[in-house]
Amino acid sequence: MSISHQGIGMTSLRTRERMIKRLAEQGITNKRVLEVMRDTPRHIFMDEALSSRAYEDTALPIGYNQTISQPYIVARMTEELLDSARNLKKVLEIGTGCGYQAAILAQLVGHVYSVERILSLQKKAKLHIGELAFRNISYLHGDGHLGWSNYAPFDGILVSAAPAEIPVMLLKQLSIGGVMVIPTGSSGMQVLQKIIRTPSGYEKENLEAVTFVPFLSGTE
Ligand code: SAH
Repeated sequence: MSISHQGIGMTSLRTRERMIKRLAEQGITNKRVLEVMRDTPRHIFMDEALSSRAYEDTALPIGYNQTISQPYIVARMTEELLDSARNLKKVLEIGTGCGYQAAILAQLVGHVYSVERILSLQKKAKLHIGELAFRNISYLHGDGHLGWSNYAPFDGILVSAAPAEIPVMLLKQLSIGGVMVIPTGSSGMQVLQKIIRTPSGYEKENLEAVTFVPFLSGTE
């Protein structure tokens, strides 16, 4: 952990314990998800000026018009993935952002393949995750519409930005028995969906209304 974050780091376990209590009250039940979120410093994924607010239950800016997802949403999406898939050896994440969700996943699944379209954000995420020294995360600077075909199929796919409709390539790159958790819809009317690929097709379930940044095309 960098010197600059040490001060807050020492007090943040207590803050994180409060966060976990709140997540449990909000309906998160998976013990492993709660443990990993208790033990992962969230403030190191944010700019210094915002790190004191890191454990509030809100999305916060990470630059480039993007936000780190609120703790509840990270917990809910991770829990849905864990509870629905048999064996999460390979998980594709679209929207690395600041890297927090990737760091949570890396502690719960075999390997995380994380795609981000904004190069500067990807670089920041690598620095943050580097502080925690996880080795099981691979990064791709690219457009998530294409997934990451070199490593497909994936046992799990978690999407952190909302497309109007589920990109076809992501459906194709899901293994049979695999689970995708993805927000869809236009801003103000998004719904979090869970898709399970079966031998004969895809089963869809609507989970809850959500607010995500839009899923954009191309790279920058
Ligand atoms: N999981 C992130 C959330 C970041 S916000 C975190 O923990 O911080 C969503 C991210 O999705 C943004 O960084 C945005 O640039 C990225 N994104 C949006 N559309 C994308 C696309 N088509 N391909 C890859 N990344 C995309």
